[in-house]
Amino acid sequence: MPDHLNQLDAALAAYPRADLLEGPTPIQKLARLSRLPELNGCNLYVKRDDLTGLGGGGNKLRKLEFLLGEALAENADTLVTWGGFQSNHARLTAAVAARHGLACELILTPSAVRTDNDFCHNGNVLLDGLFGAKVHRLSRGVTPDSYATELVAKLKQQGKKPFVMPLGGSSPRGSLGYAACAAEILHQADALDLQFDRIIVPNGSAGTHSGLLAGMTLAGCATKIVGYSVLASEEQAMATTLEKTRQTLHLLDSNATLNEGTINVDGSERGDAYGAPTEAMLEAVRLLASHEGLLTDPVYGGKAFAGLLAAVRRGDYPAGSHLLFVMTGGLPGLFAYRSAFD
Ligand SMILES: *Cc1c(COP(=O)(O)O)cnc(C)c1O
Repeated sequence: MPDHLNQLDAALAAYPRADLLEGPTPIQKLARLSRLPELNGCNLYVKRDDLTGLGGGGNKLRKLEFLLGEALAENADTLVTWGGFQSNHARLTAAVAARHGLACELILTPSAVRTDNDFCHNGNVLLDGLFGAKVHRLSRGVTPDSYATELVAKLKQQGKKPFVMPLGGSSPRGSLGYAACAAEILHQADALDLQFDRIIVPNGSAGTHSGLLAGMTLAGCATKIVGYSVLASEEQAMATTLEKTRQTLHLLDSNATLNEGTINVDGSERGDAYGAPTEAMLEAVRLLASHEGLLTDPVYGGKAFAGLLAAVRRGDYPAGSHLLFVMTGGLPGLFAYRSAFD
């Protein structure tokens, strides 16, 4: 094992961490898709971060391992976070709270583009209730961070010890979860005797992308990571990802430096807005489901996979390339978007 990878593993071990994944997630080849002539001889692989058992699974569990580690070290008894009605992060925070016997308060905001019944009541928000979280549904125009400040003050008055999780779990501490995923991928690639030419991820609150890049940087691995921004504009997502990668890297090694040129964000798949369905997303979700029996979500994975398909069809990657797509979960979101698939 290269020294750099040992250094990354050791740096990660310095932070308190709760075990929520119970082992590495598999890397699998998409054999049928990779044989389609339109994919120009590229070898597509998936990192199955949707295959994490707790609460329906997904990428937020990796961040929650470090955030919960921090919360437990502070003796918190209540987890507080916010997001949209269909937030996977909120759903998994609720599941993690249930597993650890903590209270959970979720502040959920309505979507500007989806107001149908499935979106407002099915999918993630249905599960939040099952996990026993207290859900605060905000009306349009109320800002969740000021609501959270008031809620936290109220909880403290009641003698509770709240711990506030950042949006999407994407603080530098939370992003360490994806630096750990970078180490995991490098160990697996080594065992498979494979070298990935690209790693492809969705970019929302940017912690997944930033954590992976910070981890790869510290491990001395030059594999390019491409993030498809689904929330912010390309320019804004670039800036956020740069800042978060620097902060995450700093937690791992205060002397490490980041080359700005390693930040690759592609904003071409976002569509009209965060959470707004696009034709390319619908096609990508259907293709992966019908050829591989695998499920991606309509907000993140579907759009990022659409971006990967477009790049491969255009011939951006030479035949024989090994491309690793990180499946980040979000399956409950499909049930909230039923009308988009009609
Ligand atoms: C949150 C989320 C993402 C994006 O991850 P970030 O770290 O917020 O960029 C991708 N896929 C799914 C399913 C998510 O819930």
